[in-house]
Amino acid sequence: MTENARAGMRRKTPTVTIGPVNVGSEHPIVVQSMTNTDTADAKSTAQQVAELARAGSELVRITVNTLEAAAAVPEIQRRLDMMSCEVPLIGDFHYNGHQLLKEVPECAAILAKYRINPGNVGFGRKRDDQFATIIEQAIEYDKPVRIGVNWGSLDARLLARLMDENAALSEPLDAAVVMREALISSAVESAGQAESLGLPHNRIILSCKVSDVQDLISVYQALADRCDYPLHLGLTEAGMGSKGIVSSTAAMAVLLQRGIGDTVRVSLTPEPGQSRNDEVIVAQELLQSMGLRAFTPMVTACPGCGRTTSTFFQSLAQDVQEFVRGRMPEWKLQYEGVENLSLAVMGCIVNGPGESRHADIGISLPGTGEAPSAPVFINGEKHLTLRGEGVAGEFLELIEQYVQTNYPARIKDSSS
Ligand code: SF4
Repeated sequence: MTENARAGMRRKTPTVTIGPVNVGSEHPIVVQSMTNTDTADAKSTAQQVAELARAGSELVRITVNTLEAAAAVPEIQRRLDMMSCEVPLIGDFHYNGHQLLKEVPECAAILAKYRINPGNVGFGRKRDDQFATIIEQAIEYDKPVRIGVNWGSLDARLLARLMDENAALSEPLDAAVVMREALISSAVESAGQAESLGLPHNRIILSCKVSDVQDLISVYQALADRCDYPLHLGLTEAGMGSKGIVSSTAAMAVLLQRGIGDTVRVSLTPEPGQSRNDEVIVAQELLQSMGLRAFTPMVTACPGCGRTTSTFFQSLAQDVQEFVRGRMPEWKLQYEGVENLSLAVMGCIVNGPGESRHADIGISLPGTGEAPSAPVFINGEKHLTLRGEGVAGEFLELIEQYVQTNYPARIKDSSS
């Protein structure tokens, strides 16, 4: 199903503009990520922001936790400008955001959005004043704000109030239910407070992150029912590797299918030395596999079985996916609609020709005991048969030719 066809199923929200990116039900769901560099190290941070943007992140959040980090934001932006990287930078503030935004006005002006956590804005009587200071800065610099509540740092004052109210009921609710209600109330009440201070309704995004799949679904469903702000989706502390990917996908797929979610982040813990880009790729693949957006040509490949006893089939499927991912930054600048290209790499004659015919371009490799030839199908028709040592290279060349001849050249914007 196309992006437009799906858009009708989205929960209705106002549009929130973050630099050049529009967020909300009228617009495609946006992929977001976050750096893990020390923001005070402008060079490393700018480099990672650019890498995440090149991987497909449409918004990148950076920690702004110290005066040094806030002071580095102009230099980070200067370095991004030199790389022609236009991705909006979002500042993540906890505890001292009110001070940093006031003391480093260049930081307040450059950031495209502020993310604040109502549980970490301040404590006791200072909380409301500090919250107000941040909102005043957002109003002064005309910035949107994400009010991002997190299970691990819930507003203690609000939780205590709700627990007391619950205890006074004739039949008190389960503590977990009260906790979920505290998350939602914290987001919705803080948004109301921001609006009462003058922040426009269409400058607010909400999130309520938890680390349990079922809790996330319950919380977001209730949050979606209680307000019309755009929602940022993410399972917090999702974890490493397949655990993080599966948990995030399980939770977010349910919500996205219900039309809930306007920006997404997959919060994966990278293994030491592993690229940070994986969280962007997973988020893109989640949206693309659900038919909500198209980012990169997808390769359909069978899992292989006893009919594929050599590793050639696996390595070709991997080569094709890496080839299209590597070519995509250039293709998408040159060819309109190339992200919709579908490819198939199949292991034997059982499902190979059929699945290959369903793709724009597909190859059916010979299984064990089959003749050493690989028919290639283009637009549903058998096009040619590849044989011998050069099958992989020749197939990649056919993909390149297919893109060049089947997608119209993108018309360049002469105004920019
Ligand atoms: S297409 Fe052939 S190799 Fe692939 S899983 Fe099916 S039977 Fe096995």
